[in-house]
Amino acid sequence: MALIITDECINCDVCEPECPNEAIEPGDEIYVIDPEKCTECVGHYETSQCVEVCPVDCIPFDPAHNETQDQLMEKYHMLTGK
Ligand code: SF4
Ligand code: SF4
Repeated sequence: MALIITDECINCDVCEPECPNEAIEPGDEIYVIDPEKCTECVGHYETSQCVEVCPVDCIPFDPAHNETQDQLMEKYHMLTGK
């Protein structure tokens, strides 16, 4: 399941450089996650790095992008070519 940034985001920019898939970008008002690139950090790390660093805890799962661990791993392989 991809993650999503809610409007509680304070645009602190801490999460963006932590994402191994470059899935996070500044949006018009708050930071946004590209669900095509977010693997929940599967393949790279044991935990979601953006969630680990976000000071306001505003990055929940996005139920609109429900994926299994296998699908996330497949996405990781597609994104990295590994
Ligand atoms: Fe990037 Fe991982 Fe956060 Fe997804 S969970 S946006 S891959 S840091
Ligand atoms: Fe927004 Fe949290 Fe990312 Fe900071 S770390 S930019 S508050 S989502």
